[in-house]
Amino acid sequence: MSTTYITKKTLGLETVEPAVTPPPADSTATTFAKKSKMGSGKSKKKEIPEGLWTKCPKCSTMVFDKELDANLKVCTKCDYHFPIIARERIHSLVETCSFEEMDAEMISVDVLDFTGVASYRDKLEAYQRSTQLKDAVITGIGRIGAFKVALGVMDFSFLGGSMGSVVGEKLTRLIEAATDRQIPVIIFCTSGGARMYEGMFSLMQMAKTCGALAYHAQQKLPFISVLTHPTMAGVSASFATVGDLIIAEPGAMVGFAGPRVIKDTTQAELPPGFQTAEFLMEHGLIDAIVSRNLMKERLLYFLDFMTSARRQAATP
Ligand SMILES: [Zn+2]
Repeated sequence: MSTTYITKKTLGLETVEPAVTPPPADSTATTFAKKSKMGSGKSKKKEIPEGLWTKCPKCSTMVFDKELDANLKVCTKCDYHFPIIARERIHSLVETCSFEEMDAEMISVDVLDFTGVASYRDKLEAYQRSTQLKDAVITGIGRIGAFKVALGVMDFSFLGGSMGSVVGEKLTRLIEAATDRQIPVIIFCTSGGARMYEGMFSLMQMAKTCGALAYHAQQKLPFISVLTHPTMAGVSASFATVGDLIIAEPGAMVGFAGPRVIKDTTQAELPPGFQTAEFLMEHGLIDAIVSRNLMKERLLYFLDFMTSARRQAATP
């Protein structure tokens, strides 16, 4: 060390030296004072209990959590739609105590004995614990206003809402029950796509759900698909986009492959707003964009419109 120091001096680099040498005592004191100031600022922050406020990712407003819950997880300032869990959504739609859940205990089987960073079995168990769900969809029959409907609500917090055998089977049974009872189907979609842990079995759910919907359609019964953020890949390529009516929540991302993959493959600039609900409505894939707060009201309107012909035929 000392040798280097001497060499530098002899080279005439004295001016550079102060930057290398440790700062004088005064400056250390200043740094210390500054640090303590920052420290006190932090402790002030800690006084605010956690989990009371959420920062909106769109408008950066701090929204009071209770206010957010009361507004169905929609930002009160800019209408940004935060993710909402399936049970909360069902609660916001159906009449109190009218929802009868179907196949609540159905769980996935690790058919491929899949092991990656963690085994599929471990992942399932971890998600079942953290979400209190058995899989990524809740299905059941409930009443919205005067209408009895078969309602399926997907939950993105369970393995990215991916569609494996259970999601496919539960939805198929729901649709078949709706056909038997001659009632409409409403599915709230949100998914990263087919569940790759189940390989081919997850892809087969695309055809199975659509097959059941075809029988439902033959009976001239309505199917309303509601696309929420995000609805991608295998789900967007199957039941999600075959609705008689396709509704989306504002700002929802809907597509097959993600924009980065498309951009890399086509080597073309993507238009602004690509794969957003608004863009897709302009291009004809989506029929209406409905804010979460108005969803129940609008669904009632659509259900009334879509079932009125049947009602008229039934009355003598
Ligand atoms: Zn906002």
